[in-house]
Amino acid sequence: MLLSLVIPVFDEEDALPHLLGKIGPILDEIDCDHEIVFIDDGSRDASRRILAELAARDSRVKILGFSRNFGHQAAITAGLDFASGDAVVVMDADLQDPPELLAEMVKLYRQGFDVVSAQRIGRDGESLFKRGTASLFYSLMRKAVDERLQPQVGDFRLFSRAAVLALRGFREQHRFLRGMVAWLGLKEAILPFHRPARVAGTTKYPAWKMARFAWTAISSFSALPLKATLVGGLILTAIGVGYSALVIYEALVLKTTVRGWSSSICFQIVFSGATLTAVGLVGDYVARIYEEVKGRPLYVLGETWNVPATVALPPRSVRVSARNPAEPISGEDESCPSNPSIAAFSATS
Ligand code: UDP
Ligand code: MG
Repeated sequence: MLLSLVIPVFDEEDALPHLLGKIGPILDEIDCDHEIVFIDDGSRDASRRILAELAARDSRVKILGFSRNFGHQAAITAGLDFASGDAVVVMDADLQDPPELLAEMVKLYRQGFDVVSAQRIGRDGESLFKRGTASLFYSLMRKAVDERLQPQVGDFRLFSRAAVLALRGFREQHRFLRGMVAWLGLKEAILPFHRPARVAGTTKYPAWKMARFAWTAISSFSALPLKATLVGGLILTAIGVGYSALVIYEALVLKTTVRGWSSSICFQIVFSGATLTAVGLVGDYVARIYEEVKGRPLYVLGETWNVPATVALPPRSVRVSARNPAEPISGEDESCPSNPSIAAFSATS
């Protein structure tokens, strides 16, 4: 059996040495062959150089270097596209997804599960704000997107080959992998774990990116916001009609002058705001359709290591250079000392 690890990397030069020092010995203890697919999502630091150094020593390490930052979900997509394992595990580069769980995941896979999802039952090193917004996110997603979404399950998951092939069929631009997994309805096992703090470096998901991710998740899987706008519009219309009837009654029957200039102005502002919000919401969905119909690639591969130039590219992907791993790495300094963690990984693997 071949186990593939898919690890997206974006500016992780501080975390990578820790990761590489740890996964080698753990993988060696699992009773199967392995490969690691690193996706360098347009890192601006030394991440790519560190990975390239590793790939030059170990042909089981594939590197997909994106031409720029395409985002975490695109990086996972590319990893799943190029992983050739019987089972594929997606995990972060910062050791928040403990590799110690891999053996248990493989065991559950061998018992016949197509998906093994690691569920966070505790979180270290994350602010109250991040934990609060995360649990709000999961409960909102379950209501708005799919009630089969597992609470507190991120992208740290094992997929069987069949599940990977099924996931490869989703080529949409706006991607929410967890929603796709729930949508497929695969046979899933849950593996609870305590999520440790990031080993080094800082999160690549600031609050605004998390908010954007949450909105992508909702809007790419659900038309609920549009329906809610419709219901809101109907309620406001009903209020307007009722109030108009009252005003007409006062004017014609009670013969009182129509009062309330200031309240009229307030209503006007509120209704204009609600109208613009609704139009903006529809506009957002239209913009997403527009981006979808263009059918642009989901990611662009620049430099790659240990990925043959002849390999067939998946739909909606582009390769702009097929690099030969035997060539020196661009800008490589011969005198640059090897990283000891990388050497440890290569020695144990
Ligand atoms: N990541 C990526 N592209 C991005 C943002 C993040 O490939 O645009 C990677 C990152 O290097 C890490 C994983 O995705 O391996 C999860 O990111 P992070 O740990 O910053 O997220 P958090 O755990 O804080 O939610
Ligand atoms: Mg993390």
